[in-house]
Amino acid sequence: MTEKNYLRYLSSGIFLIICSLLMSCSSAATQLSVKTIYITIDDAPLSGIDNILSAVEEENVSITLFMVGEHILASDYHQEMLAKAKQNSNILVGNHSNSHAHEHYQQFYSSSSGVLDDMQINNRIIGLSEEPFYSRLPGRDVFRLPNLKTEDPYITQEEDENERIDFDTLYDHGFFLYGWDLEWSHETSGEPIQTVDKLLQQIDYQFTNNKTQTKNHLVLLMHDQMFADHLNGRENLSALFKALKEAGYKLSTLDQYPINQNDNN
Ligand SMILES: [Zn+2]
Repeated sequence: MTEKNYLRYLSSGIFLIICSLLMSCSSAATQLSVKTIYITIDDAPLSGIDNILSAVEEENVSITLFMVGEHILASDYHQEMLAKAKQNSNILVGNHSNSHAHEHYQQFYSSSSGVLDDMQINNRIIGLSEEPFYSRLPGRDVFRLPNLKTEDPYITQEEDENERIDFDTLYDHGFFLYGWDLEWSHETSGEPIQTVDKLLQQIDYQFTNNKTQTKNHLVLLMHDQMFADHLNGRENLSALFKALKEAGYKLSTLDQYPINQNDNN
C-alpha cells in the first residue's frame, strides 16, 4: 500500500467511526427524549365509563382505570363495563379499593388490616389474582414501588406517620401503589377545570422542569364522572387523546412505568 493509499484508507476508516458514533448518539438522544404519559382514571365505573371506553377504542390509546368494587357491584350495567374494560388490551384495570373509604379517610386509614382487607376484597371483585396488583388508594397520593417510595404531599405529618404502616403493609402483600404527578381537576359537578390546551401547557411545564417523580414519565390523574354525557365527556376526552398524540407523547399503562433505576430513561 502506498503512503497516499494508506492515508486515504485511514481517513475513510476515521470517517466511518465518526459516522457510527454520531448515529449512536442521535439514537440515544431520541430514546431519552421520549416522554410517556400514564393516563389514570379513578373511581370507575361511574357515569363517564361508557364514554371513556368509547373514546379509548376510537383513539386507540392506552389508559389505566382504577376501579372501585362497590361501583362495579352497583348494577349489571356496571359489571358489564368492567368486563368490557378487561377485554380491551389497551386498558389496564387497577384496584382503587372496594369501599373508597366511604369518604371517611381518617377512620379508613386507622387500621392497616382494614385497608388490606378492603383492597383484597376488590381484587376478588375485579378478578386480580397475580401480583403485583396495580393500585391507587382512595384519596392518597403515595407511591410504593420497588424504586420509588413517596409520602402524600397533601396530608399532615401527623397523619402521614399514622398511616405509613398501611402503605408498606400493602406493598408487602403485592400491591404496587401509584400516586400522580398532575391532575386534570374538576368541579364538584364533575366539570373539568382546565381546558385541554391549559392541561397540555401544564404537562409541558412538568416535563421541562423535571417535576415528575420519574424523569420523562408523567402520571396524569382524572376521574370517571368528568366524562358523563351532560359534560360532553366523550368529546373532551377524545380531544385530550388527540392533543397528546399530536404533541408526540407516548401513552402507556402503569404496568409499563419504570420500576428499575436502569429503566428511568
Ligand atoms: Zn378515588
